Amino acid sequence: MHLQVSDLGLQQASELEVFGGPSARYCPAGVYEWLVDEKTGAPKFQINSQNCVHCKTCDIKDPNQNINWVTPEGGGGPNYPNM
Ligand code: SF4
Repeated sequence: MHLQVSDLGLQQASELEVFGGPSARYCPAGVYEWLVDEKTGAPKFQINSQNCVHCKTCDIKDPNQNINWVTPEGGGGPNYPNM
């Protein structure tokens, strides 16, 4: 996966619970979603990496620098299926 979250515990404790989950808003492609696990009721960080347009915003804007964008495998660059 070309989007790497170093510490999922930190992502919940800080990015979600302190900052209110900005990743769900700053990502232009809707890659990040905070869902609620149906069974446990716990927050679940979903990463729809296939939607990523490789703008690197998350790499810069995550409040803890906890998300790392790395070069996608194959180096294909952005893929815009609807254009
Ligand atoms: S690189 Fe851009 S499009 Fe991809 S997940 Fe990060 S913010 Fe979203």
